[in-house]
Amino acid sequence: MTVPFDYPPDPHVRRHGPRGYAGYDSYRPWLRDEFAFQCVYCLTREVWTRFTGAYAIDHFLPVATNPDLETDYGNLLYACIPCNLAKGSGVTPDPLSVLIASGVSVSEAGVIRGATPEASRLIEMIGLDRARAAEFRELWIGIVRLAATFDPALHRRLMGYPADLPDLSTLVPPDGNTRPDGVKASHFEKQKAGTLPETY
Ligand SMILES: [Zn+2]
Repeated sequence: MTVPFDYPPDPHVRRHGPRGYAGYDSYRPWLRDEFAFQCVYCLTREVWTRFTGAYAIDHFLPVATNPDLETDYGNLLYACIPCNLAKGSGVTPDPLSVLIASGVSVSEAGVIRGATPEASRLIEMIGLDRARAAEFRELWIGIVRLAATFDPALHRRLMGYPADLPDLSTLVPPDGNTRPDGVKASHFEKQKAGTLPETY
């Protein structure tokens, strides 16, 4: 089991649609919720990091060539700094449709492999197949397994949600929200309703 690095079964379908913020960082709480508080490329979770300064707002199509998409929610991704830096201003296959269970496998030793040409290309472009990245995954696979066996409370912290889930209902995007139902399905609302799982 390589649980913390199991890629999602299906391509990601956006649940939020905020519009009109002047700066892309204002979309951060929406993106944190949208992408479940983890990097869309390597799946590193917020709770494994010191958080502050650990995550970037990634532009899928680079701003250098697509300045009109700088603050377009549909072009924004949530990524850890190493993945964001590795991507730079490159144009990559879309991680939301390419990095899925049928396209990626991660071994017990943390080795990642693409099962499709697109996934392989993206893995190489982001450097997810570098030795240090594999070591990092192997380490966390081991830590999570140990905690699951010997320390359930620690396991819940390692594999649970961050404490500061954003309350999206308090946010008012300047040009509205094209997917208002997403707010009701947010992690904060699920926690309030008692339906948020302890781990994910
Ligand atoms: Zn990452």
